[in-house]
Amino acid sequence: MLSFLTITQAHDKLKKREISSEELTRACIDRVEKIDGKLNAVVYKNFDRALEEARKIDTAGTFDSPLAGIPYFAKDVYSEAGVPTTGCSNMLRNPPSPDGLRAAGKDYIPPYDSTTTKRLKAAGAISLGKTNTDEFTMGASTETSCYGVTRNPWDTSRVAGGSSGGSAAVVAADECLFALGTDTGGSIRQPASFCSIAGIRSTYGRTSRYGVMSMASSLDTIGPLCKSVEDLAIVLEAIAGKDPLDGTTGDHPVPNYHGALKKDLKGVRIGLPKEYFIEGLNTEVEASVRKAAAVCKSLGALVTEVHLPYTKYAVATYYVLCPCEVSSNMARYDGIRFGHTVEKPKDLLDYYQRTRSEGFGPEVKRRIMIGTFALSAGYYDAYYLKAQKVRTLIKKDFDEAFRGVDLILAPVSPNTAFKIGANSNDPIAMYLEDVFTVAQVMAGIPCISVPCGFSKEGLPIGLQLMAPQWEEGRLLSAAYAYEQATEWHKKRPVLDRA
Ligand code: GLN
Repeated sequence: MLSFLTITQAHDKLKKREISSEELTRACIDRVEKIDGKLNAVVYKNFDRALEEARKIDTAGTFDSPLAGIPYFAKDVYSEAGVPTTGCSNMLRNPPSPDGLRAAGKDYIPPYDSTTTKRLKAAGAISLGKTNTDEFTMGASTETSCYGVTRNPWDTSRVAGGSSGGSAAVVAADECLFALGTDTGGSIRQPASFCSIAGIRSTYGRTSRYGVMSMASSLDTIGPLCKSVEDLAIVLEAIAGKDPLDGTTGDHPVPNYHGALKKDLKGVRIGLPKEYFIEGLNTEVEASVRKAAAVCKSLGALVTEVHLPYTKYAVATYYVLCPCEVSSNMARYDGIRFGHTVEKPKDLLDYYQRTRSEGFGPEVKRRIMIGTFALSAGYYDAYYLKAQKVRTLIKKDFDEAFRGVDLILAPVSPNTAFKIGANSNDPIAMYLEDVFTVAQVMAGIPCISVPCGFSKEGLPIGLQLMAPQWEEGRLLSAAYAYEQATEWHKKRPVLDRA
């Protein structure tokens, strides 16, 4: 089945004219129609347009770009002109009003493209549509989506992770060749690890956020989820780099990531942070990650222990800063600038209140409340300002550690994919799932997740590597060497049987 190919494999066949982009796109569409009903990973299908684009690429006949004619899905927060994009929130879906006065309206349709989808289009990639996410990317399980949960392809009674759970599931289930996600506090790495695929969060400012719905602007990044590290290198190279439309992107030139991939780790110094191997870490996850460190050693790496002492404050700090920024970013959804319209408001305040109470789900409301509280006069110094200071200390932890090592190796998540509903009524338990993925975002450093094993129950386990800012090349090269020495990434979930 063509949709099972990696980007590299498909590109080779396209270039040799063994297959057409139309055939490849059709294979993905067929796969979605056949199995997505079991997963609920796709929330918008743009198939007619995708086939039209594929035919154009076939006619043009130039497959010089490694992404020419390659079909992908984008998380439902990436703007594409004319394509419904809802952040998986009722706020932008305009469902019927609870009082029955108003029928369902239209989903929000962006009038412009995000820089990333625009760059992919220029490289010839084919957009198939949108994938499920937690509402406005707030969550770790895709359960807060207004479209309902995405199921894990390895075990459909479990979550695919979040918030980019839909993007991880479509790649793991071979419904496309790659997908786009966003990572504010782990949302690319954690679902990648729960679904046994590769995902990279780049340095803050390496990729453009223009045209992607914001959650917490000083932490948000965008990036790819792929079937192999080589594919990650190809996609990142196409989307990274300075964007005049996003002032937070850096001027650093984008290296040839793909060309720099190496198969060994000779002389690479890798640190294992003591603070990531703690009580509460699932023993099977720990064993797989330690085994991965041993594989790195056998490939020539020098493995030592490092310390990141402020790690224990990471979740608490993130869950002050993130909601503060959320409370500000969500202000635009007032029913006038953005967001759904309510019927017969009594006055302006009633209009705002009803728009926001009908449009937002409970997790978004919780974060708006926490953020507004932490930013209010009298509490600002005690919470927001304090958290900013701790953020600096967390960043210094990494600066210090990277003086002695080139990379840091750790688990992605303390557990394997959990059962649907297991954490839904306990926000603290859900937040604690992020314990290993939020420190890096506050330091703005790049990190990657690659498959490193399975539990006895057959659930995927992910390995996390971290590098200093702007060192995505180092990260990809090391992850590639590890991947080439192991077989984990080759395993595929069996979905067709049930
Ligand atoms: N799970 C984290 C949160 O809920 C991360 C979300 C994300 O990265 N978008 O905030």
